[in-house]
Amino acid sequence: MGEFELIRRFFTRPTPRAVLGVGDDCALLKPGEGMQMAISTDMLVAGRHFFPDADPRSLGHKALAVNLSDLAACGARPVAFTLALSLPTADVHWCQAFSEGLLALADAHGCELIGGDTTQGPLNICITVFGEVPIGAPLRTSQPATQAILRSGAQAGDDIYVSGTLGDARLALEALQCRMTLPEEVLHLARQRLEQPTPRVGLGLALRGIASAAADISDGLLGDLGHILQRSGVGATLDTSIAITLIAVCVYSTRAGGQFDSYFSTQVALQCVLSGGDDYELVFTAPADARAAVQAASLASGTAVTRVGQIDAAPGLRLIDAHGAPVANIFASFDHFAHRPG
Ligand code: ADP
Ligand code: MG
Repeated sequence: MGEFELIRRFFTRPTPRAVLGVGDDCALLKPGEGMQMAISTDMLVAGRHFFPDADPRSLGHKALAVNLSDLAACGARPVAFTLALSLPTADVHWCQAFSEGLLALADAHGCELIGGDTTQGPLNICITVFGEVPIGAPLRTSQPATQAILRSGAQAGDDIYVSGTLGDARLALEALQCRMTLPEEVLHLARQRLEQPTPRVGLGLALRGIASAAADISDGLLGDLGHILQRSGVGATLDTSIAITLIAVCVYSTRAGGQFDSYFSTQVALQCVLSGGDDYELVFTAPADARAAVQAASLASGTAVTRVGQIDAAPGLRLIDAHGAPVANIFASFDHFAHRPG
C-alpha cells in the first residue's frame, strides 16, 4: 500500500470542528470566541518509550493519551491533533489496529485528526495536540492573561494534590522486564495502566480557576512536582505516609483481602509512587481555602484526588513520615539521559 492510500484509509476522517482537515498543504483551525490555543507535542520512540512489538491498538491509544494529558495539566479542552508517523513497513493490520486505538480515544474527547506526515523509517510516533482555554484573569495576578493552569502559579501555603493512583505503570515495567514477579491478575491491572493510561482531561477542566499550578506525571511525582516548584520559585513538604496509599495495587489487594507487602516491600512501593513514570495523573496545587472546591471538581469529573503535602516558601523538597519526621530522599526521578533501555 502506498503512502497516500494508507493516509486515506486509516488517517482521514470528517473534521466538523476544523475549518480544513487532511488533504491540503495545511490544516486550518479557528479558536472559539474568547479562547486561546494550548499546543503541545509528544514523541514516542520504539525501544525507548515502548517495546517494538507492542500491541498497536494500545500504542495508538497511548500516543494520543500522553498528549491529551498535557492539555489536561493546563486545563485545556482538546480540539484537534496532527500525527507524524514513521513506519518500517506499510503493515495493513498494524495500521488498522493502531488507528482504531488512536481514533477511539480521539472520538471520546472530540479531538479531530487534522493532518500529519507519513514516512518510511524506524517506528516513531509524534503527535501535536491543539486545545482551547479561555483568555481571562489568572488566579494569581503575576500570571499571564489566561485561565490555563500553569506550572508557575504555586505559592507558599498552597496544598499539593495528586489525582488517581501512582506507581502501577512502573510495577508493570519492572515485571515485564523480569526484575520483579507479580501475580497474574495484578500484572494485568498494572499493565493496563502502563499501556492504556487515562488522561485526566475532565479533572483539568474542572480545576480551572481553582488550581494555582499543575503538571501531568510522566516522569514521576518527585520530578514533575519539582518542575512546579522550580517554575514557581517555592519548595514543598510531602507526606510519604499518605503518598504510599496512592499505589493502586494496594487498593486492589486490600479489596482482595491481601496486602501489597506480600508482593513487594514498602520501599519498592514508595519508589514506584514517588519516582515511577508513565502514570499520566495530575499533580496540582490549590490555596488551602479551596479544599471544598477541589473536592467538588474531583466529584464532578469522577476522578479521585488525594492531598499529599504543602507548598513552602523555603526552596527544596522535603519528605516526611506520618509523625512529621524527615524521610531521606533516595527516590531519584527517572531521567531519560541517565538510563539506557534495559
Ligand atoms: P506534504 O507533501 O505537503 O507534506 P503530504 O503528502 O505529506 O503533504 O500529506 C498529504 C496530506 O495528508 C496532508 O494534508 C497531511 O496533513 C496529511 N497526512 C499525512 N500523513 C498523515 C497522517 N499520518 N495522519 C493524518 N494526516 C496525514
Ligand atoms: Mg508530508
